[in-house]
Amino acid sequence: MPKPVREAVRTTCPYCGVGCGVRASLNKDESWTIDGDPDHPSNFGRLCSKGSALGETLGLEGRLLYPEVDGERASWKTALETTANRLGAIIERHGPDSVAFYLSGQLLTEDYYVANKLMKGFIGSANVDTNSRLCMASSVAGHKRAFGADAVPACYEDLDAADLVVLVGSNAAWCHPVLFRRMMTNKETRGARIVTVDTRATVTGAAADLALTIAPGSDAVLFNGLLVHLAEAGAFDTAFIDSHCEGLEKTVSAARADAPTPETVARKCRLPIADVHRFYDLFARTARTVTCYSQGVNQSATGTDKVNAILNCHLATGRIGKAGAGPLSLTGQPNAMGGREVGGLANQLAAHMGFDDPADIERVAWFWHAPRIAGKEGLKAVDLFRAVTDGRIKAVWIMATNPAVSLPDASAVKAGLEKCELVIVSDCVAATDTLAYAHIKLPAAAWGEKDGSVTNSERRISRQRAFLPPPGDAKPDWWIVSQVAKWLGFKNAFDYGSAADVFREHAALSAFENDGRRAFDIGALAALSNAEYDALAPVQWPARAAPGPHSPAPETGARNPARLFETGGFFTPSGRARFVPVTACAPVHAVSDAYPLALNTGRVRDQWHTMTRTGKSPTLSRHCPEPTVAIHPADAARFGIEDTAPARLETAWGAAVVRAHVTAEQPAGTVFVPIHWSHETSLSGGVGPLVNPATDPISGQPESKHTPVWIRAVKTAYRGFCLTRAPLDLSASVYWAVTREHACLSYLLALKSQDGCTLTRCLTRWASDTFRCAPNDLIEYKDTALGLYRAALITRGRLDACVFLSATEALPTFQGLAALFGQSALDAASRKALLSGAADTGQADPGRIVCSCFAVGVNRLNEAIARRSLKSTEDVGALLQAGTNCGSCLPEIRALLADA
Ligand code: SF4
Repeated sequence: MPKPVREAVRTTCPYCGVGCGVRASLNKDESWTIDGDPDHPSNFGRLCSKGSALGETLGLEGRLLYPEVDGERASWKTALETTANRLGAIIERHGPDSVAFYLSGQLLTEDYYVANKLMKGFIGSANVDTNSRLCMASSVAGHKRAFGADAVPACYEDLDAADLVVLVGSNAAWCHPVLFRRMMTNKETRGARIVTVDTRATVTGAAADLALTIAPGSDAVLFNGLLVHLAEAGAFDTAFIDSHCEGLEKTVSAARADAPTPETVARKCRLPIADVHRFYDLFARTARTVTCYSQGVNQSATGTDKVNAILNCHLATGRIGKAGAGPLSLTGQPNAMGGREVGGLANQLAAHMGFDDPADIERVAWFWHAPRIAGKEGLKAVDLFRAVTDGRIKAVWIMATNPAVSLPDASAVKAGLEKCELVIVSDCVAATDTLAYAHIKLPAAAWGEKDGSVTNSERRISRQRAFLPPPGDAKPDWWIVSQVAKWLGFKNAFDYGSAADVFREHAALSAFENDGRRAFDIGALAALSNAEYDALAPVQWPARAAPGPHSPAPETGARNPARLFETGGFFTPSGRARFVPVTACAPVHAVSDAYPLALNTGRVRDQWHTMTRTGKSPTLSRHCPEPTVAIHPADAARFGIEDTAPARLETAWGAAVVRAHVTAEQPAGTVFVPIHWSHETSLSGGVGPLVNPATDPISGQPESKHTPVWIRAVKTAYRGFCLTRAPLDLSASVYWAVTREHACLSYLLALKSQDGCTLTRCLTRWASDTFRCAPNDLIEYKDTALGLYRAALITRGRLDACVFLSATEALPTFQGLAALFGQSALDAASRKALLSGAADTGQADPGRIVCSCFAVGVNRLNEAIARRSLKSTEDVGALLQAGTNCGSCLPEIRALLADA
């Protein structure tokens, strides 16, 4: 590894809500080394595979570098003036509610603050929502119902101190890997137990002491039953309840009506009764219990109730705000929490104020000198894009997100954007499914170029610091929004010179007329100088300038406590936490004869959102290079689905073709498809169009974990791959997905047979059309008996493209071939071997990559485990290095060891 030539810049990973600190160090060869910050309290130097590969994502390929108006490159002056003029004209004609902003948990707090201020205070509408609505809105709503404020009571240190960690709807081993390693260290060193609650088997569950695979939608039944069990076992903390809570009786009655006995719970959740008893007994007798919950709970039409069913159990046992005990919502995005602080959701105002209290509206209006403050909640994400579709919203400004892929019923979102009068998109990438509809494109600075702050899942504010200059005309998002605000005539209120200016105002608003009444208060940071802001160390909120009457820890006067609510101090009118009665929860759309399976969606380990950034990393692409549908063998047999063959999924909202992965780990009656693929990276454009748009009535969060679906086999004649330097038009294929290798693109694909087509004639024509060359330019190898077709295009000695197709699945591994694209001219041996089947450079097929850091595949791991009788992850690491760097693959290696 090259030696850093100057002091590292400390910043924060831009992916998940763990909020790991990273260091960026410039090397002598001008490359950057990204490693974990050993001093950051969220990760103490650890990074997962995504964080470790950040250095591969810094290149400028695919960047949006200049403003564009109506498809033409424009100056910033033209772009800003046009944006303001067109927005202003629509507001003039149709009123403030005819425009909307759609923001992102990828934005920094300063970006978020300025966008929210412009829309809610100056345009005069609350139609500003964020993709965090898809991530943790149900947790926000649940916290507000129980605690009176959106305040996470626990912190990461609790994961080190807990004796029991319950993970509900959370595949933390893949989605919050650094925190999961912390939990595993606790298990290995202190003997802490881990219980998972999920609707499918995951690598997290494989590492748990008890994995409860529940029926879809039955999370609340499980926790209602737990509340009843705790009541009957005498496990309630009556002193805490009497002093600090209200509404217990009604809540226990509602729980009893839903889940009167463990037997009822076992039946409704489809769990063995012994597992229900084991979980309940373990929870009842373990005072130091942390319950982490994530998208599996939140992404539901009853997500808020599910959150409150969990919170009820923690309040009843007084396990809140204590070392090693508390509920801990794991946020998906790097700055979902920061967005909540500034009021980035349509039902919030700013700084934890809302539209329910006229005094809040007046306070914010006064502080901002806002001429036209919004007086009511705006439209939440799904409703916001419905309003785009039905024409109520005539202009939408989308920042740093890709709703044409990620929202449920995504085809309807595209239809809405297609006919929307004005679509403005600020982004750092040049091509996304959403950008295809933009009238105005505004180039935003990317991760390494941005300066500001983010807040992680434990309320910890960390600085994100720029270490690269913005390329082309790219600008920070807060600057872009402020400039448009000035063009709209609001110069004085948006006259910011730096991110620090914005942060100081945000901090001052949080403390304005607060006096401890609002949970979010960072008044202690409101007077930071530029240098102090630049040097700001990670800090948890609240960070009050002075303790107030409702300070979270009044007896200690602590200004920024790591934990909240140990001694009450809730933010409800009575100061007491509210138990919330939860009745039966069920998915909105039940499976039926027409759509007999339940579609679940989620993440894979090494990709992030719609892959606009992680997709740049060849290392990350090798873990799961294409979209798959996991299906149980019994369901596969019932629907004629063959493992590794393409399969078509159809719901009432849309359809997609993905690769089948037949596995007994997927519960029968359900299928699972990852969320990351789009039309930029696959033929079908991902799973978003399939997902039903039902939402939670309180949080507005969509039910992304349960959509009734039909599945059928897709007939193919050939399957294989193409490697190419230039993007290909594969619209004639029945399936393709593309990933990036170091020197080429890798397409996995399937072709259907055509009437009258013979291998010799048709595939030659197909390859020459696809590679845009004459048939005679191709070097070919055909074996009609074995159903093999291979071809390569070599131009002036350089390999430009190759294709390997098979009717029988007998294909070499493509990673070895991809390395040949690094040669400026093929050497004689490579040229000779290219199509021979030994062209995979003679290496054994490593199989699907498990350890991304050292490119160790599942075949190599299985072979080594069997041949060398490896027994532990340490044995595997010593022999193959796998698992010795970021450790994200350790759960999978453990599972392979267990299988062996
Ligand atoms: Fe980034 Fe991984 Fe840390 Fe999440 S766990 S912040 S993705 S390094």
